[in-house]
Amino acid sequence: MDFGLSEELAALQQVARQFVDRHCPPQSAKEWDETNTYPAGLFKAMAEAGWLGLPFPPEAGGDGGGPLELAVIAEQLGRASLDMAMCYIGTLIPSLTVHKFGTPEQREAIRTGMLTGEKRYAVAMSEPDTGSDAAALRCAAVDKGDHYLINGQKMWCTGAGLPDTTIMMYVRTSKGERKHDGISLLLVDPDTPGVELRQTPTLARHILGTYEVFLTDVVVPKSALVGEQDQGWKIMLSNLELERVLMSGGYVGVAQATLDEMLEYSKQRTAFGRPVGTFQALAHAMADMQTEIDAARLLAYRAAWMLSQGLPASREGAMAKLKGSETYVAAARLGMQVCAGHGFSTESVMSFRWRESIVAPISGGTSQIQRNGIARSMGLRSY
Ligand SMILES: Cc1cc2nc3c(=O)[nH]c(=O)nc-3n(C[C@H](O)[C@H](O)[C@H](O)COP(=O)(O)OP(=O)(O)OC[C@H]3O[C@@H](n4cnc5c(N)ncnc54)[C@H](O)[C@@H]3O)c2cc1C
Repeated sequence: MDFGLSEELAALQQVARQFVDRHCPPQSAKEWDETNTYPAGLFKAMAEAGWLGLPFPPEAGGDGGGPLELAVIAEQLGRASLDMAMCYIGTLIPSLTVHKFGTPEQREAIRTGMLTGEKRYAVAMSEPDTGSDAAALRCAAVDKGDHYLINGQKMWCTGAGLPDTTIMMYVRTSKGERKHDGISLLLVDPDTPGVELRQTPTLARHILGTYEVFLTDVVVPKSALVGEQDQGWKIMLSNLELERVLMSGGYVGVAQATLDEMLEYSKQRTAFGRPVGTFQALAHAMADMQTEIDAARLLAYRAAWMLSQGLPASREGAMAKLKGSETYVAAARLGMQVCAGHGFSTESVMSFRWRESIVAPISGGTSQIQRNGIARSMGLRSY
């Protein structure tokens, strides 16, 4: 049994850490969040670092890397902010999906666009009435022979409004026996006539932004279909485990950064003639938090390792997502208490951590949905 990173993974971790220090330290992530700024050059820098092509096979222009490498990068990006990790994960996962099921032309667009850092992808699954119950989606794409005609609305489409973004949109193409049948995946250019975007005002996630997408008589060519018509649900599930694992890496990174920041503060700040971190009440709380973060990290890397071995990791991925996201919330809450008045000032990075953490157990499947999956794997039908 070996719980350490291999030499190669440790080297990648080091490089990724330096990347964050140089390109996106937490203070910059906070400022970008406050000014709704997407640092376009950062995505290019990720391409230059070889991270965008990492998981693709060499014949597709990639490096044939796997879930462990991706988790290491996601964890280090998380040290900047969750949103920063999502800049990476949020486009990597949809492009892997398109690569897996797409046509040669769609794959080529990934090789020449996404891998070079020039194009991004966003995912539109959720709708105003359907979040956790994603398969109940209603946005309709009618097959008109040589094209689809889309009408409906999508919600929470992260990054949809950024330049050069293609929306990977799940739509209903037919009504099957089950709600999971009859869903298809289409690639939609947000500049297509009939598509309108509105950025949803949110507590955080302002670097990427999250958007409502209104679709009125939108015509997309048949060539926009990814995979087979009506098979969208299976396509969506195909990368869910990897997505959860990478998000878990991001949560662990940002939770650790949050703890490191409060620890540093608690060693500097004095009260009653001693550093506040030496008060047992705070020291124990931070010791507990490091234990929680280590547990979350072990869960994340266990799930990543299982995927790297080709093993199913649905339950382990859900556990990692559950634990990692809730640990970030707990770390940020503790950080606000340790930093006290300093944390409450919106000039502090801690206040940004706290604001941002709230979304971790919501987006990408809520904690309740993860628990349902884990309970199901234990033979309990949980609603
Ligand atoms: C910042 C942000 C970014 C997002 N980005 C994207 C994106 O890029 N693309 C995309 O498609 N979606 C995105 N989402 C949507 C996200 O996936 C949903 O918000 C999430 O799945 C929850 O759906 P909901 O908000 O509609 O809550 P609901 O599904 O309405 O749930 C409300 C409450 O009921 C609980 N609940 C629901 N069903 C069950 C159940 N069966 N058992 C127990 N409890 C249950 C939930 O856990 C929650 O507490 C994003 C959301 C946010 C906030």
